[in-house]
Amino acid sequence: MTELKVLITRQEIAKRVGEMGAQITKDFAGQAVILVGVLKGAAIFLSDLARQIDLDSTFDFIGVSSYGNRPSPTQELQSGWDSTGEVKLTKDVDQSMKDKNVIVVEDILDTGLTLTVLKKLLMAHQPRTLKIAALLDKPSRRKLPLEGDYVGFKIPDEFVVGYGLDYAEKYRNLADICIVPRE
Ligand code: 5GP
Repeated sequence: MTELKVLITRQEIAKRVGEMGAQITKDFAGQAVILVGVLKGAAIFLSDLARQIDLDSTFDFIGVSSYGNRPSPTQELQSGWDSTGEVKLTKDVDQSMKDKNVIVVEDILDTGLTLTVLKKLLMAHQPRTLKIAALLDKPSRRKLPLEGDYVGFKIPDEFVVGYGLDYAEKYRNLADICIVPRE
C-alpha cells in the first residue's frame, strides 16, 4: 500500500477533544449523560472524550454494519461508495435510555445514513435529549440532512484511517489521523 499522509496530528486531536469535552460539560452542567459509542471506530474517541467530560457519565455501545452494499475497502478507495439506505444493527444498547441525556459518539459523519438510522432507533427509547458527537465530518459526502451537535474537524472527501478508523480492520491504533491516498 502507498504511504499514509498525516491529516490531523495527535496533538491537534487531543486539543480538539478537550474542547469538545469542555463544551459538553458546560451544556449538561449538573446533569448525567450516557455516552453511546458506535462500534468499532468510535472506541478510541469515546475513551478520550469521556475523560474530558466532567459529569456523571456511563458508557454504552451500539454496533451497526451495512447490508452487503458496501464495497471492499479497495473499491471504496478507488471510487467511493454509495449507500442504499440499509443499516443492520449488530449490537443494541444494554441499558434503558428513557429520560436520559444520550450522546451518540461516532468516529466520522459521512453520508449521514448510519447516524440517521441510529438516531431513529434511539429516539424510540424516549431519551430526554439525544445529541451527536462526531470527531470527523465530511460534509461534501452528505446524502441525508444530518448535522453533528459536537463536531471535531470538518475534512475533505478523503479516505482516512487511524485513531479508531480502519482500512480492512488495520490502522485503528495509529495515533494520528491519516489519509490513504487514492491510486
Ligand atoms: P455514513 O453512514 O455517515 O455514510 O458513514 C459512517 C461510517 O462510514 C463511519 O462510521 C465509518 O465506519 C465509515 N467511513 C466513512 N468515511 C470513512 C473514512 O474516511 N475512513 C474510514 N475508515 N471509515 C469511513
